[in-house]
This record gives sequence, structure tokens and C-alpha cells, in this order.
Amino acid sequence: MSFYYINPKPLESGAYEVHQEGCGLLVQDPDRIDLGSPLTPDTALKSAARYYDEVVACVHCGKDA
Ligand SMILES: [Zn+2]
Repeated sequence: MSFYYINPKPLESGAYEVHQEGCGLLVQDPDRIDLGSPLTPDTALKSAARYYDEVVACVHCGKDA
């Protein structure tokens, strides 16, 4: 399990990307949302959905367990 964050700026589609800690596409932005305790990709997306209506797993880091 890993720590996950939501990028504070949405994609062009309007969805917000969920990243694993350490992903190169995760911005070092103080406004990024820390999803807290270690999560699986599935639970990270469910947690992210509490913040934004549209969330997507990062194509680079979202597949790792
Ligand atoms: Zn990522």
C-alpha cells in the first residue's frame, strides 16, 4: 500500500488525477490533497471522490498495488 495525493489542478477533461507518492507527475504543490493513511489504488480513488466529482487514477502510477 502507498500514500496517495490528488493533483490540485484538473486535467483538460475536468477530472482530477490521483497519484501515488513519488510519482513524477505528482506536482509539488502545497494545495495538493493528501489522502492520508496508506491506501490501495481502489480505496484511494474512493477517498478522492469525496473531494471531487470526477477523479481518475494516474496512467503512470495508478496501476500499482
Ligand atoms: Zn502518477
